[in-house]
Amino acid sequence: MTFRILILGGSSEGFALAETLADRPGVETITSFAGRTKTRRAVAGLSRVGGFGGAAGLADYLRAEHIDALVDATHPFAAQIKLNADKAAAAASVPLLHVMRPPWQAGPGDNWLLAEDMNAAARLVPDGKGIVPEGKDIVPEGKGMVFLTVGRTELAPFAGRHQVQFLARIIDPPEPGTLPEHMEFLLARGPFRLKQERELFAAHKISCLVTKNSGGDAASAKLQAAREQGIQVIMVNRPPPPQGKQVSTVSQASDWLEGIQNGQS
Ligand code: NAP
Repeated sequence: MTFRILILGGSSEGFALAETLADRPGVETITSFAGRTKTRRAVAGLSRVGGFGGAAGLADYLRAEHIDALVDATHPFAAQIKLNADKAAAAASVPLLHVMRPPWQAGPGDNWLLAEDMNAAARLVPDGKGIVPEGKDIVPEGKGMVFLTVGRTELAPFAGRHQVQFLARIIDPPEPGTLPEHMEFLLARGPFRLKQERELFAAHKISCLVTKNSGGDAASAKLQAAREQGIQVIMVNRPPPPQGKQVSTVSQASDWLEGIQNGQS
């Protein structure tokens, strides 16, 4: 009988896991995408697009599609779908694993300010008048642009910071007329190389970088470029982790699935 795995995808781990399982005998994968981006990389195995209709909808899907194991490989900041996965897996009695890549850690030479969420990050951004949060070591006034790599849907908190010039790197263009004049856009999809990031920081005179603590290699070159150029980083902490069992690598997820398939877990 075919062992059916639902992968909640949208991250590099989701693609890699589907690829890893593609040649495993007796296994079929369905990768689910939220459908946030207009174009998408091809994925190994089957795929579907769009929300399930909350935890109850996901539980219905697990039952209707006779899913044997559920792997949440969504982005570390996709908190709602992780919560839904916990609830749905329990309701449908399907084994669940979350794949969560480790967060980035500040090292020597890094100049990070930690923000609880995007609103806090927007408040920490240095002001064009040189007003900075008390006790914080922030770049001086007028030195350059603030580089936002937080995703297209997370830009609103920065709109009120009228004194600040922003450069936002996003995958798809924003809806026309929804964002302020003091925000420029750069349309690009990672991974980004160090050379690219160094050149971009220099060309736009970036003085501050705002990023989510996504972890992983695909988006980490900007942190090295920031370190080298003494640029302030405002690092948005992750939301609370989900309840279910967690691993940090695709290879661990693959082993866990093998165990479930062989009836060992
Ligand atoms: P979210 O807030 O956790 O999820 C919101 C809703 O989107 C969920 O309740 C679910 O709708 C739907 N959804 C999310 N992921 C889905 C998936 N893989 N398949 C089907 N439906 C999904 O997530 P988000 O922040 O909107 O992120 C959406 C997707 O983009 C995720 O797959 C994530 O991996 C990817 N992504 C997110 C970020 C980020 O920073 N948040 C960054 C890069 C990529 P229903 O309740 O209707 O099922």
